[in-house]
Amino acid sequence: MIAPITIKNLTVAYGNFIALNKVSFELEPGKLIGIVGPNGSGKSTLLKAILDLTPSYSEQILFFGKPLKEAKNRLAYVPQRETVDWNFPISVEEVIAMGRLNPSKMIQRLSEEDKVIINESLLQVSMTDFQKKQIGALSGGQQQRVFLARALAQRADLILMDEPFVGIDMASQESILDLLLQLKNSGKTIVMVHHDLSTVAQYFDDVLLMNNKLVLHGKTSEVLYSQEIHDVYGKLFNFNKA
Ligand code: ADP
Ligand code: MG
Repeated sequence: MIAPITIKNLTVAYGNFIALNKVSFELEPGKLIGIVGPNGSGKSTLLKAILDLTPSYSEQILFFGKPLKEAKNRLAYVPQRETVDWNFPISVEEVIAMGRLNPSKMIQRLSEEDKVIINESLLQVSMTDFQKKQIGALSGGQQQRVFLARALAQRADLILMDEPFVGIDMASQESILDLLLQLKNSGKTIVMVHHDLSTVAQYFDDVLLMNNKLVLHGKTSEVLYSQEIHDVYGKLFNFNKA
């Protein structure tokens, strides 16, 4: 079993502020893995740094044993919603088609197979009726489903999502979680930044607890019942043991 992500001593600084200090971990494949921690603990920075979207220092970052540029087609990233420009004039089917295109080629045509895969992906997230709509005209939950469909169309083996449930309705949250569990059961790895500890217990296999460094990495139950989680969250800790 090859690790979907292996990281050694990843450090990120914004000016004098150390947002992440020497983070090392190795993830297991076929799991739903949560990245938790208070506001500002470096969760988004961790995803951006491992995808080389922000400058960082590290001894090693490998995806399925390979550096980013050789593994890029196996990964899909769904950014935090508020960092996306929703006014960009692009339709639902165009966003999903991006999952079939090679970003290094200028002019490309979608094959018949690509079109079939795009339609399947639309269907999987129940967005077929919206395929011609502009992405900015959708609800938050629909937008998240479209980005997930792009990851499905790409046939990604590792999906990284940053707070996909912020500001979306419960029905969308549940349908996305159902789909993620199906993907996981088919062997894919899903890594999700998520701040709501009460749903972490229900859905996640493993948890990375962040506080500008990696505080604890383990099974969800071990992390949620640890002393470390109390130390990190302090009075904010509201995970109910029931
Ligand atoms: P989280 O996602 O856990 O809320 P972030 O990774 O977004 O946290 O940010 C971690 C810390 O780094 C925060 O204190 C934040 O203010 C700071 N930070 C994030 N991005 C930048 C940036 N581009 N420039 C300066 N500071 C930043
Ligand atoms: Mg964040």
